[in-house]
Amino acid sequence: MSSVAVEGLAKSFGAATALHPTDLAIEDGEFVVIVGPSGCGKSTLLRLIAGLETPSAGRVLIGGRDVTALEPAARGIAMVFQSYALYPHLSVAENIAFPLRMAKVDKEVIAAKVAAVAELLELGALLDRRPRALSGGQRQRVSIGRAIVRDPAVLLLDEPLSNLDAGLRVRMRHEFARLHQRLGATMIYVTHDQIEAMTLANRIVVMAHGRVEQVGAPLDLYAAPATIRVAEAIGSPAMNLLPVRIARADAAGAVVTLPGGAETHVAVHVPPTAVGAAATLGVRPEHLHPDPGGPFGGRVELFERLGPLSFAHLGEAGTLGSIVAQLPSDRQVTLGEALCFSVAAVNAHLFAEDGAAYPRLTP
Ligand code: ATP
Repeated sequence: MSSVAVEGLAKSFGAATALHPTDLAIEDGEFVVIVGPSGCGKSTLLRLIAGLETPSAGRVLIGGRDVTALEPAARGIAMVFQSYALYPHLSVAENIAFPLRMAKVDKEVIAAKVAAVAELLELGALLDRRPRALSGGQRQRVSIGRAIVRDPAVLLLDEPLSNLDAGLRVRMRHEFARLHQRLGATMIYVTHDQIEAMTLANRIVVMAHGRVEQVGAPLDLYAAPATIRVAEAIGSPAMNLLPVRIARADAAGAVVTLPGGAETHVAVHVPPTAVGAAATLGVRPEHLHPDPGGPFGGRVELFERLGPLSFAHLGEAGTLGSIVAQLPSDRQVTLGEALCFSVAAVNAHLFAEDGAAYPRLTP
């Protein structure tokens, strides 16, 4: 187990900056998930920590030791890739043993370690097979086995489940949670998947445009995103974002005018200078409540039933752009039907023109 810290870490490819100078401290044994849109620098940050890329500036510390100049193999880390990267001509046992053989570990020690890893990952019955005779989930378990066989202090995972089908993803997600509990290793995990991020992470790192936007516990980021980009990255379906104008401020927060002229309250503090300014209102689909006189209205353009929940997509018929509202599964809805919703002030978010959230009023 080890802490991981990056200090002023940056990476450019020619004139393009993939990672702006970044500071991040990850505690020993933490499970940190990095999320953000495609191209925001997630893999670059992970590869810099692994030593697979050379930084343009800054340092990487593992267990308090500066490893910036060390080769990947000398850093005490292991990495699991989306593509598994198994050796096709080697058996499962040989694939798992490979890093130990490279390190010239004794044969008996290798056999014992492979057996222990196979038991942990339930691969015992598959040890003689070649990778092509395995399912996607089994292959990914082998690549995890190969990563953990050297007892890495830090395990880096780059979208390890994205090649698997939905059912297998759920099972493997549970396995990662169990693996983290059993190994106690520090884990840094890159994903596009909301549910993986929310359920696996002790803390989530949200990145955008090569910068860290916010770091925090999953529910803290969900409840109080610091910027529009964090609001967009956390929560599924995504938060509705509407252009508004700040009409006035009072003791209960801000009153904003929606595109159609209706008003709604937001429990945030806005300075007097912001009154009259344009802003972005954020409301999650699950916080829109059916309310015949509510300010959020439109006609149903699309209706999605997911079983326990349903989502109505409301179109332009009102004066708002498209918004998504969550409904109970037993609510009957017809396409074209007009629906209205309201939101409690404490569940609404307000972002200034630069994307920063106005501070929430403390209850
Ligand atoms: P994705 O979710 O699509 O995997 P990401 O957030 O992991 O994206 P990175 O792979 O870190 O993003 O890439 C960040 C930026 O750096 C991108 O604009 C990418 O095109 C660029 N980049 C990454 N690797 C290289 C490289 N070897 N040469 C040039 N540009 C690169």
